[in-house]
Amino acid sequence: MRVVDIITKKRDGLELSTEEITDFVQGYTSGDVHDYQAAAWLMAICIRGMSLRETHDLTMALVHSGEVINLSDVLPVSVDKHSSGGVGDKTSLVVLPLVAACGIPVAKMSGRGLGHSGGTLDKMESIAGYRVNLSLEEFKANAKKYGIVLAGQTSNLAPADGKLYALRDVTGTVSSLPLITSSIMSKKIAAGADAIVLDVKVGLGAFMPSIEEAQVLAQLMVDIGASVGRRVIALISDMNQPLGYAVGNALEVIEAVECMHGKGSPDLRQHCLGVAAQMLRLADNDLSTDALTGYLAKATACLDSGAAFEKFCVMVTAQGGDVRMVEDTSLLPKAEIVETLTASRSGYVSQLHAQRVGVASVELGAGRIHKSDSVDHAVGLLVHAKVGDSVTKGDPIFTLHANDPQKLEQAKQRLDNAIIFSDEPTEPLPAFYDVIRSQELPIAGEER
Ligand code: URA
Repeated sequence: MRVVDIITKKRDGLELSTEEITDFVQGYTSGDVHDYQAAAWLMAICIRGMSLRETHDLTMALVHSGEVINLSDVLPVSVDKHSSGGVGDKTSLVVLPLVAACGIPVAKMSGRGLGHSGGTLDKMESIAGYRVNLSLEEFKANAKKYGIVLAGQTSNLAPADGKLYALRDVTGTVSSLPLITSSIMSKKIAAGADAIVLDVKVGLGAFMPSIEEAQVLAQLMVDIGASVGRRVIALISDMNQPLGYAVGNALEVIEAVECMHGKGSPDLRQHCLGVAAQMLRLADNDLSTDALTGYLAKATACLDSGAAFEKFCVMVTAQGGDVRMVEDTSLLPKAEIVETLTASRSGYVSQLHAQRVGVASVELGAGRIHKSDSVDHAVGLLVHAKVGDSVTKGDPIFTLHANDPQKLEQAKQRLDNAIIFSDEPTEPLPAFYDVIRSQELPIAGEER
């Protein structure tokens, strides 16, 4: 079939065959299909949608555009997590050592910051010497030897997704359920995960603004995972306000270390324990009602005993990082200017706009405005009040860490309307809104 016929078929709302989807993706990967044709096809998918079968076929075509990693020779079961992206989301830094300390080895490939949301690799690179670019052999060897590895994606992992994602970014075709689902799930499947916990963020700082939309996306991703024999659970979690107190790379490493010492923000601790417990239960394939309570208790014990922090240090050392920087976090990169903003009035915090806080942090230099920008690991900000907190006029609300006075001014302006106060008491935001599982994964009781 000609490329143009595949485009017009989708444009007219018809269902594409497995062969048509596979041919299109293969053609785009090899360069036979041009960017302008792929852009038209993506727009047709965006407008017309895809059936579950088409979404499955697109996911698998993306998986097979590159190498498919098999971790079964180094791990008894490969359990992975994926966050749909957020502000202050340092969950992986805590959860991976935590799960590993509970006896389940973890091998994770992570990404860099995207837009206003931070990236795990940028955070880990705040630690001098930490290597994220491991060869597949090193990645597998570390997983086997230390039971923990956290690195960047190998370059040949779902390369068609890399190309298509870049095109979607500039053609208004990011927000499509089948395209987001196939993009995320293809990378998880190609990276060799048997079991996956998806952390689907919802709210002012997330891709999905409403819980209903997040539920639909989560269900689709879970079902696609199940259709290829993966055990998948999706958590719908809050991203109206930043997770924890710290936003920015080294500041987030400090907060993650505090969390592993049993300190720091309660919302981060609750979130990390919730994600870890789901990973542990999925790894054991123990989906009974009582299981979650037991796994939560186990994760809590490993966090509070210092076992998770010990694993974190093992991983940092194994990947060439200077472990003294996490043993004594005052050695991490520090900004030259530290300025605290105070509350202009008394009241209850009713909104702390995650996206505006994330953009302010990017403007300080913690993220990238252009793809080629380098990040400043030292800069970012701390939030001192979360939704539901009562604040008195003059109390600190943000502390900005900057290395450039102009960027500091820009970030201060951005934060002007990032926080809203109310005279009425406001409920704190929950960590999780829902847990989504596949229809094929019966979990009795507590969820849904
Ligand atoms: N993250 C991805 O990897 N792909 C998407 O399409 C959206 C978020």
